[in-house]
Amino acid sequence: MHARTFALALVAALLLAYAPAQPNILRAQTHATLAPNAPVTTRAATVPSPADVLGFTPGDDKKLASWAQTVEYFRRLDAASERVRFEELGKTTLGVSFVVATISAPETLARLDEHKDIQRRLADPRTLGRNADRKAEALIRRGKTIVLITCGIHSTEVGSSLSSMLIAHRLASSDEPEVQEILRNTIILLVPSLNPDGVDIVKRWYDASLGKPWEGTSPPELYHKYVGHDNNRDWYAFTQVETQLTVDKLHNVWHPQIVHDIHQQGAYGSRLFLPPYMQPVEPNVPRQLVEGYTELGHFMSDRMLRAGFKGITWDSTYDAWTPARAYSHYHGGVRILSETASVQIATPITVKPEQLRTGEGFDSRKVSPNFPVTWPGGEWRMRDITSYMTAAAFELLRHASQNRERWLRRFYSIGREAVRPRRPGELFGFIIEESDSQHRLFNEPLRLQRILERGGVDIEGTNKGILVRLDQPYGSFAKALLEAQRYPDLRDTSGHPIAPYDVTAHTLPLLMGVKATPVYAPFKYKRVNRTVEIGDALVSHPRLALYKSHVPSMDEGWTRWMLEKDFAVSYSSLADAEARAGNLRAKFDTIIIPDQSPRAILEGYRKGTMPEELTGGMGKEGVRALREFVEAGGTLVALNDASDFAIEQFDLPLRDVTAGLKRTEFYCPGSILRTILDVTHPVAKGMPRESVAWVEDSPVFEIKGDPAALPRVRVIARYPDSGTPLLSGWLLGAEKLRGKAALVEVGLGSGRVYLFGFRPQYRAQSLATYPLLFNAITGQ
Ligand SMILES: [Zn+2]
Repeated sequence: MHARTFALALVAALLLAYAPAQPNILRAQTHATLAPNAPVTTRAATVPSPADVLGFTPGDDKKLASWAQTVEYFRRLDAASERVRFEELGKTTLGVSFVVATISAPETLARLDEHKDIQRRLADPRTLGRNADRKAEALIRRGKTIVLITCGIHSTEVGSSLSSMLIAHRLASSDEPEVQEILRNTIILLVPSLNPDGVDIVKRWYDASLGKPWEGTSPPELYHKYVGHDNNRDWYAFTQVETQLTVDKLHNVWHPQIVHDIHQQGAYGSRLFLPPYMQPVEPNVPRQLVEGYTELGHFMSDRMLRAGFKGITWDSTYDAWTPARAYSHYHGGVRILSETASVQIATPITVKPEQLRTGEGFDSRKVSPNFPVTWPGGEWRMRDITSYMTAAAFELLRHASQNRERWLRRFYSIGREAVRPRRPGELFGFIIEESDSQHRLFNEPLRLQRILERGGVDIEGTNKGILVRLDQPYGSFAKALLEAQRYPDLRDTSGHPIAPYDVTAHTLPLLMGVKATPVYAPFKYKRVNRTVEIGDALVSHPRLALYKSHVPSMDEGWTRWMLEKDFAVSYSSLADAEARAGNLRAKFDTIIIPDQSPRAILEGYRKGTMPEELTGGMGKEGVRALREFVEAGGTLVALNDASDFAIEQFDLPLRDVTAGLKRTEFYCPGSILRTILDVTHPVAKGMPRESVAWVEDSPVFEIKGDPAALPRVRVIARYPDSGTPLLSGWLLGAEKLRGKAALVEVGLGSGRVYLFGFRPQYRAQSLATYPLLFNAITGQ
């Protein structure tokens, strides 16, 4: 059955089951059947509870565990329980332990290598040779459902790392038959945090905020050193060490059938989101996985609603489009995202009924097919969050356990479909051209190859280029990243565009400036050993500053990442106080303002909402100092939304033509567009004439007045005069862009301002436009 139809049928059944408002039995029910603090047996007495180590029970108001305490709890659990094996997989960005607990029946833990081998062979049916189906059945009978549970990738969503200890304790200590059954049938890989650094960043800030007006706010710094919340947008580019450890040491070793990724959402919508996802689903996600997350998601919400949990929605808000959030969807496993409503970090809140809001695809005040039981509002606290999270995790494990063979058979069928020979006329693969030009400063083809290889894709060096065949287990991962995206034009009932949950394009050859040509039939080629050319090291020593607002900007973090890892240039971070103090030209040649809203740059946090020294933003003094800096010969580089800040504050002769447009008139929520470069300009020197721009709610420039009268304005990149500039993703109102500027230099005094109407260093993926930024920064 089509996923939607199936969902509707099930919804109808659920509506019948839950239509009468349920009494408030949430807590009682939870403790009777689902609570982690299950009846203690004699055996459990030897297994430490989280409270034994932390001094509080996870879910208590205003209590967070440090990362050291969390690790210590799992160490103690490992020492006390034969069901738990705990290990460090590597070190995080800031150098602490990145860990996993493997939980199963003791007899299974003694044979993990054997189970890895079963998984490896089912994942790649080519390894089974003749009579593959029969051999697979034998493996399926012996195998276990592999469940990866990942917590805390977003560190302000503190509930999941706390719940990980409750989940582990119950699994390690309980003798309930259902827990025994889970242990017998599954292997659980529990990651207490995908971002351990952030656990302590948030705890330090939160503990210090207690009793202050800013109690329970997000910390005034990124909770991952470089990428903040975008750490969950890295599941195909694999730039960060935490992503690499998870992919290399868990996904690629274990090939989990189910990945439970536990998150929190805003406080005023549903209490819990579970799959199925709303449309669109990325077309390379196998239908078996869509069926799998639909079946499992409905099982979980059905069981939880019956147990009295309220306010659960599905088929709303969260789509399944970008592979940046869903590695498993291209590697044989379902991703079960759960999003529980937040409190203020760990401080309870009271939600008035009138504060409840509509979400994308449902209204949290009204019963609907995908929201059958409303939550009336009232108190909401940490304990509610941990109750929802632990209950959802155990329902997921129940399904994984009761349907063990079904999950393994589904997993095998995905692999078998992936490796089948391609039919005549069907897309056979891609040829990636290795290298041609002098622009290979950033080793673009090599980077693309390494991404594919890390994602489990086999590539072959040939005399025609690098061949990526699609008839292999993770061919769909390669296809998703190598082809252009055609995002569907989705509208709500009033014709308003439905926002994608994240961005709409992920075509790496376009972003990296590498040619990948589709091939529709097998062809003759010679294998050759690939020689990889590494570009020359960049040599440049500008006196460079990167503006760092106290209001954290992920783009600031990504820019730091690029400056350190790709450009290898030294730089200083420029905070508001230093900017306001002036005399910037004496210290710097170039200042970058990363993508951030003009208001956040100018005003920062409001007085009284944060510690005094963090409030006020750049302010008028900062603007004056920046202007003096440019007029005295400095270079100011403004990225994306920061361009509007520069235009407004310096009164530059430019207009952002997208300002004030409705989404129905113009909308570009993260797409790749075509641009034309003026290669006579030093910033575009040596670049191809046609390039790209990563456009994400970006400004688009028009020169005010007669360009001839403005000799100090030079357009470096513009959109084509005709047709659509869309190369991949979604764009409404293409005509608004025609002939308009995407990158402009404006002279001011004896200096200059470069305005980028796009993100030239988007999530460390848009290597094609790195040279523009590099040249602008270094004056080359
Ligand atoms: Zn999250």
